[in-house]
Amino acid sequence: DLQDRKLLAEEEQPEELNKTDLTPVIPSFAQYLIIGGGTAALSAFKSIRAHDATAKVLVISSEKYYPYMRPPLSKDVWYTDDNLLNQHMFKQWNGQEKSLFFFDNEFYADVKTLNDEENGGVGVVLGRKVVNLDLKTSVAKLDNGWEISFEKCLIATGGQPKSLKVFQTASNRLKSKLTLYRGIDDFFALKKVVDSGADVTIIGGGFLGSELACSLAHRATENDKRGNPSGKITQLMPETGNISKVLPEYLSKWATGRVRDEGANVLTNVELIGASVVQDGKVSLSYIDPQNPKKTSYITCDHVVVAVGIEPNTDLAKSAGLEVDPDQGGFLVNAELQARHNVWVAGDAASFYDINLGRRRVEHYDHAIVSGKLAGENMTGAHKPYWHQSTFWSDLGPKVGFEAIGLTDSQLQTVAVYAKGKPTDEEQKRDSEGNREQQDVVPEATANDLKHKLPESKGNLDKDDYSKGVVFYLKENKVVGIVLWNVFNRIAIARKIIKDQQEITNFQELAKLFNIHQD
Ligand code: FAD
Ligand code: NAD
Ligand code: NAD
Repeated sequence: DLQDRKLLAEEEQPEELNKTDLTPVIPSFAQYLIIGGGTAALSAFKSIRAHDATAKVLVISSEKYYPYMRPPLSKDVWYTDDNLLNQHMFKQWNGQEKSLFFFDNEFYADVKTLNDEENGGVGVVLGRKVVNLDLKTSVAKLDNGWEISFEKCLIATGGQPKSLKVFQTASNRLKSKLTLYRGIDDFFALKKVVDSGADVTIIGGGFLGSELACSLAHRATENDKRGNPSGKITQLMPETGNISKVLPEYLSKWATGRVRDEGANVLTNVELIGASVVQDGKVSLSYIDPQNPKKTSYITCDHVVVAVGIEPNTDLAKSAGLEVDPDQGGFLVNAELQARHNVWVAGDAASFYDINLGRRRVEHYDHAIVSGKLAGENMTGAHKPYWHQSTFWSDLGPKVGFEAIGLTDSQLQTVAVYAKGKPTDEEQKRDSEGNREQQDVVPEATANDLKHKLPESKGNLDKDDYSKGVVFYLKENKVVGIVLWNVFNRIAIARKIIKDQQEITNFQELAKLFNIHQD
């Protein structure tokens, strides 16, 4: 009867579903398998195809988009009109329009027929995650149970945003007001929030938090000018200034001034201690204000962006029996970016050996490109070590930007030379062209000691003081890293200085190579 038929239908259903799920759409063998579909993956498949003309590359990406670039998502897109954004395009600072995607969809081969293509190609499986990697049998298992055997494999799994303890136990109501920002969908969701006139608080003073603070403040200001709803943008961080992992303390504090100029309310030295949703649906964040440490301070907003760093995606290490760097995270690979004879790692997820500067893990775009390119070439049979230094850059709004190369850790000793400015600090040396030298530390002490010996800025945080210059990062009087502060297109010179590894005594002379006053 009807009841039996209904029961029968229910029993049949899972089998029907299974059948659909097992439709053979993914090849069970990959000559080159790439796990992850971000920037490192993109660079690797281009490199593989360049060195092996008929290569068949299968990419498994847990995202629903073909490879795209993340850097514009905290900068340019916020300065772009909606009609372009809706086509997944953005306007660069120079006014040029560009797609967020590296290639049009037509570039990619159909994964179903990839293995039959005489000239090979690149196929991307979207929305599927590799959950197990068996290196005894060279088989990767997907989240739907499918298995792919491979000849060679690249792990390019990047990282995912971390959260904070105060949000980990958050109610669903609070969670719905939180953004962990990493991809295209996060941008469109956050844009909607900002355009609704919401007050947004950004937690974190690193790259993401600082760039977003400028971009969101700009967007809110523009909304206001157009008579649209606009909210307050606040940035809250435990450090004394923006991007302090890289910038020497005085420069980081100066940069904070520029972020404030963009319209963001920046709270430094602030420790967040709690978060909850209050009566009117607003989020209340509690923190300790160093000015008033005995009592709890509060800030109320509509939405929170948590930008407190990323965790490299190394879940596959366990099943694969791969080693994770206990200090800086990421899969441990050698100078050739190789973890096992047929497994390589590139991008944010790799802790690699730089034959010039030692073991490193780098979370930047150009590193993803450079390391992906090298891994790809090595997968086709080259045996090259990492030798080409990658660079990175950041923009704090359209007026302040920098490019950097090598080891640029603010814990290192730094010496900087700034273009002609106002002579406000007697300690600063000036050369014949009026360029000023700023030592952030006394050279004899160790890096950790030095952090606490920074000269307190004596009224030298004038707007023009640090608007343009070169910062050298030193180890044993040799330059291991360089930041070109509002100085552009001189990275090749910086790269050569790091490669040469000469002992430097005269930084004014060295800085002259950059012609910092000539832009
Ligand atoms: P990702 O780009 O994160 O790609 C990894 C991919 O792997 C993701 O698509 C992920 O979904 C997928 N994945 C993970 N695990 C699995 C799995 N098990 N199976 C299948 N797929 C998986 N750097 C700069 O130098 N300059 C900038 O201005 C800059 N701006 C940035 C702005 C934003 C908003 C962000 C988020 C980052 C920015 N970066 C910038 C950093 C840069 O984008 C990253 O360093 C770079 O994307 C790293 O590339 P990747 O391929 O290693 O990782
Ligand atoms: P395929 O497209 O996966 O393989 C294409 C070619 O690669 C064939 O010539 C095959 O002989 C060769 N090949 C496969 N595994 C190899 C290995 N380990 N070493 C060397 N060469 C290898 O086709 P298939 O393997 O014959 O699979 C048949 C169909 O089943 C495919 O259409 C596939 O998409 C589908 N399927 C896949 C899964 C999965 O888990 N990936 C699951 C169900 C069905
Ligand atoms: P980050 O590592 O640059 O900064 C982390 C920040 O988290 C710290 O500076 C600190 O302010 C904050 N933080 C840490 N613990 C905290 C705590 N307990 N309470 C409050 N704040 C705390 O990472 P990010 O800024 O989150 O960026 C995410 C990723 O995206 C990184 O890999 C970054 O390199 C990348 N990114 C790079 C660029 C660029 O290169 N221009 C731009 C945007 C994003």
